[in-house]
Amino acid sequence: MMGKPDKALPTGWTTSPREALRVTNTGPIAQYDAASTPGYTGDKQAGTAALIERGAHLADLQEMLFANGRSRGHRSVLLVVQGMDTAGKGGIVRHVGGLVDPQGLAITGFGKPTPEELTHDFLWRIHRALPPAGKIGIFDRSHYEDVLPVRVHNLVPERVWSQRYDLITQFEREVVAAGTTVLKVALVVSREKQKQRLIDRLNDPTKYWKFDPSDVEERGFWEDYLEAYQTIFDRTDGDHAPWYLIGADRKWFSRLAVCELLIDALEGLNLGWPAATFDVEVERARVAAL
Ligand code: AMP
Ligand code: MG
Repeated sequence: MMGKPDKALPTGWTTSPREALRVTNTGPIAQYDAASTPGYTGDKQAGTAALIERGAHLADLQEMLFANGRSRGHRSVLLVVQGMDTAGKGGIVRHVGGLVDPQGLAITGFGKPTPEELTHDFLWRIHRALPPAGKIGIFDRSHYEDVLPVRVHNLVPERVWSQRYDLITQFEREVVAAGTTVLKVALVVSREKQKQRLIDRLNDPTKYWKFDPSDVEERGFWEDYLEAYQTIFDRTDGDHAPWYLIGADRKWFSRLAVCELLIDALEGLNLGWPAATFDVEVERARVAAL
């Protein structure tokens, strides 16, 4: 196994989240149990408590990344969040992103391309949203939409979308080479749980705004989406930009898992606190004399 040996596993985990959830170890998405918690033995109560405790650690690491960015460090982290409707992408942004200083985040949601975006190549808007040094970028949907609905509905001809897997791999390699750690999570919701969540939205006036009638039609393309996702994993997973498959029927688990993967990514940067750019003793004396 790659990486740091002998690193203690977080409490409740029997396998590191990075191994347990990596798409090369989970098997195909079509067979994935969306209610499973691979690698984790705790229940909802333990997992919810763990998110708070581990969130404090994530916040410390994020501050260190931010401090390095302020001191000419060039590192950043990009978390790509994909998943079918109701999988809880927004909840990841809110509940995991919400664990750290919002000033250290660069969050972008990608909806249907605007007329201006459509005049450019599909990676144009993605480039512009990449996190600067010191920040954690979170993409709520991403360039992968250009091989998801675009492929399922042939919004561009097959000869165009079929080239995008290689273009994406090349793009991500460049992003990583420039100093950004890329991790990609696919939230896997079951068909039954999606139906339940759609019903919940219709039964609660405070959730009407989340309901999109076109989501009902998209459900009819379930198998096509699974196939499109599987092609993404087969063609764009790599150690440079790994994909993780995370069950989303239990939201407490998907949030904890993403938190752990982010911690792992940040620890992997091996950062320290930036050294003083001034003489500490001299400054101490000057302040004492104020
Ligand atoms: P939401 O995330 O609920 O705001 O919905 C955003 C919508 O935009 C979803 O239906 C996405 O599938 C769609 N979308 C995002 N990116 C693209 C794209 N590149 N091409 C077509 N549809 C897209
Ligand atoms: Mg939607």
